[in-house]
Amino acid sequence: RAKSNGKNTFHFYRPSMQLLADQHLAMERALHTALEHNEFYLHYQPQVDHNFSIIGTEALIRWQHPEQGFVPPDQFIGLTEETGLIIPIGCWVLQQACTQLAQWQEQKLCPPHFRMAVNISAKQFDHPQFLNMLSDVINRTGVDPNKLELELTESLLVKNMDATIIRMDAIRAMGIALSIDDFGTGYSSLKYLKQMPINQLKIDKSFVMDLLTDANDRAITETIIAMASHLQMDIIAEGVEDAAIMDLLVRLGCKHFQGYYFSRPVSAENCSQLLQVQKLPLGS
Ligand code: C2E
Ligand code: MG
Ligand code: MG
Ligand code: MG
Repeated sequence: RAKSNGKNTFHFYRPSMQLLADQHLAMERALHTALEHNEFYLHYQPQVDHNFSIIGTEALIRWQHPEQGFVPPDQFIGLTEETGLIIPIGCWVLQQACTQLAQWQEQKLCPPHFRMAVNISAKQFDHPQFLNMLSDVINRTGVDPNKLELELTESLLVKNMDATIIRMDAIRAMGIALSIDDFGTGYSSLKYLKQMPINQLKIDKSFVMDLLTDANDRAITETIIAMASHLQMDIIAEGVEDAAIMDLLVRLGCKHFQGYYFSRPVSAENCSQLLQVQKLPLGS
């Protein structure tokens, strides 16, 4: 096709494809090295109730490349999924988050219903060794599985329903909670959602951020909150950036919140300090 459009297009087209491939390859190599050289670390973002009391934290991966500097996860998670690198990296994330959780448990820093949320990509969830890996990490770190929550994506709710439900049931039987991340952005079938052992829906930040100005986003948010309530699932809003949005969410019946208004994702040390206070400073 490129060729039939003339020589120029051909010459113009090829190098850019090549460049893209080279960039991917370089990035893939860099990600391998990152794992070996401990360039990844986790930040933790608090989740709060209407009193600004901490009810949980979400573990978020960070990558400090020696030359490129900080690389945000949205720029490399996709490639780790394509290359399969998400399997060892995801295992590292879970191990690290559980090690931190075990430490906070030992230091008695976890409030009563505290949960550590860990993002799990569909590739990881579908991996044949996922359940073994999960129980290994729990046994090794000694965490209370009731304090662990997995954030899954809606893409899991559209394929291999039966296999997914069996797997979800096994995870729930271990005591671990399941949350659907970025809810509303995918295409999950409501029929299956009802049959799935899901504890919580997490309203995607794209709806939350424009809540005050966009009538559609408000309607979607209201619908998700109503649906969660009917299905007896908990609800949390992500991307809450100011008091006005929180107030509106409270009026719509949302009970749990996460966003820059409360705290940005912070280092383990800084998060320990927040947990010592239990309540985030803004609320007092
Ligand atoms: P996510 O799981 O939906 O995480 C929430 C993202 O929203 C985080 O971005 C967080 O920093 C950001 N955020 C939180 N509050 C606010 C706010 O008030 N305003 C705005 N504008 N943003 C807010 P981050 O850390 O860059 O992560 C991006 C995505 O990368 C995550 O979205 C998740 O899909 C993926 N990710 C991050 N860590 C992991 C991981 O360990 N494993 C996997 N599989 N994916 C991860
Ligand atoms: Mg998440
Ligand atoms: Mg999200
Ligand atoms: Mg996301």
